[in-house]
Amino acid sequence: MTHLSDESTHVRIAIIGSGFAGIGTAIRLLQRSIHDFVILERAAALGGTWRDNSYPGCACDVPSHLYSLSFALNPEWSRTFSPQGEIWEYLRRIAKEQGVLPHVRYQHEVLGAEWDRETQRWLIETTQGGYSASMLVVAAGPLSDPVVPALPGLASFEGTTFHSARWDHNYDLTGKRVAVIGTGASAIQFVPQIQPTVAALHLFQRTAPWILPRKDRAIDEWERRLYRSSTTLQRLMRGWQYVGREMLFFPFRHLGVARLIEHMALRHLDATITDPALRSKLVPNYRIGCKRILVSDDYLPSLTRPNVEVVTTGITEIRPQAIRSGDGVERPTDAIILATGFRPTDPLLAPHVRGRDGRSLAECWAGSPTAYMGMTMSTFPNLFFLLGPNTGLGHTSVLIMIEAQIEHLMRAIDLMERRGASTVEPRVEAQAAYVADIDRRMQGTVWTAGGCRSWYLDATGRNSSLWPDGTWSYRRRAARLDERDYITDAAPIVRLTPASARDTRVTVHPPFRT
Ligand code: NAP
Repeated sequence: MTHLSDESTHVRIAIIGSGFAGIGTAIRLLQRSIHDFVILERAAALGGTWRDNSYPGCACDVPSHLYSLSFALNPEWSRTFSPQGEIWEYLRRIAKEQGVLPHVRYQHEVLGAEWDRETQRWLIETTQGGYSASMLVVAAGPLSDPVVPALPGLASFEGTTFHSARWDHNYDLTGKRVAVIGTGASAIQFVPQIQPTVAALHLFQRTAPWILPRKDRAIDEWERRLYRSSTTLQRLMRGWQYVGREMLFFPFRHLGVARLIEHMALRHLDATITDPALRSKLVPNYRIGCKRILVSDDYLPSLTRPNVEVVTTGITEIRPQAIRSGDGVERPTDAIILATGFRPTDPLLAPHVRGRDGRSLAECWAGSPTAYMGMTMSTFPNLFFLLGPNTGLGHTSVLIMIEAQIEHLMRAIDLMERRGASTVEPRVEAQAAYVADIDRRMQGTVWTAGGCRSWYLDATGRNSSLWPDGTWSYRRRAARLDERDYITDAAPIVRLTPASARDTRVTVHPPFRT
């Protein structure tokens, strides 16, 4: 697969992806005076999901102060739930301020990587040539590859079609008959935004989502002045939001608590929807939390407008200028917006990353991704995932997990340096015990007993997406890397001279000594 030419560039660390995980890792490396790294980014700009999702109304459903890096606080958030543009701007700003930009290689899509036993390096193939790296950090994000559903006739549609994560801003929706497929976290944000301008909005709902009020509001200038004047205040607000959000984990484990939250969601529904026929379409038929709990103040009201129809009879065929549903009705359509989500448990790269025994990630996973700490894998030396298997969250900021994982990565680098090792990977039995523990803790949660099929579940039906506990337990465990769980070797470490990340001169250093 990977054919490196003599011109391939060697770096100590290659990071795939420039979203929060990639940029956060880069900042922490620079803080440790590690400059010998690159970020391989497939797009022409940095920002990950906050670059790609630019649909109208895109915003974070986690409170702003919690959805920022603890080592780059931002007193300037304009709303309690930040809009996409501000989060993207924040990421670009901190990347610039912290000196990350010279390390980013834009339009370098990683096509594959394999471990070379001879040189003890990852050989990485990108759309712009080869790289080799002593360590490979996969920070590509679980929600980066959009799903285009296999709907009958979709290819024959003559109007405009785009995915919510690839919004076509050149297409004017004004006065158009628009079909939206999907009612997940993305759809509920853009439906209220486009509803006032379109002629007709056919909303194809397969499963009704649970929706709670968001209670978003502008943050006043006087509040921002206070935050500017005191980092302690920002940290207090962040701490308050952290504790509040951790409470939201309880309904996932205790189904009795879930029923209480359902009661709140139904009150929210009843306060908005008076038409009994529409209400009956919008009442979910599974336990709250089984799929991601959505928050919105304007989605339900937008469904009551005369130009909106919620279609629950399924799509039987897409014709060149219309969509036919299960009740036989054909709705003339000018544009289809696919709000059909991503492929978090089946990453496109998985068949193309091969470890030291030649097997790919996809072969090892056999449809169900696993990793020690959701980060490292036996037979894949020096490979680290950020937001890898079982480290997603349904209740709070994933940046908490990302930060914990970045610190774990730093501890692994420390371990290698202390032992003078060129490779590190988890012991096979440590990985197996870790995964067994995750699966045991997953039992009885709303994701396994909640009566729904969500994107958290993989092809085998296992929840390989979420961390089955509050974030405090993951943070505690990630912070102290258990050396007994990792194997290192004692081969000389191959590193660049520190001149620049693109420097191709290679120096063989003796093992580090403590
Ligand atoms: P999603 O939650 O996976 O929702 C996809 C929607 O498309 C679901 O309603 C699904 O129905 C429907 N769907 C999929 N295939 C279909 C088909 N063949 N026919 C009909 N309907 C189909 O995707 P998303 O809304 O893009 O959100 C994905 C994740 O992104 C979220 O869960 C969240 O983690 C993240 N997100 C976060 C924010 C934020 O504010 N932080 C905002 C947006 C997204 P079923 O439910 O029946 O499968």
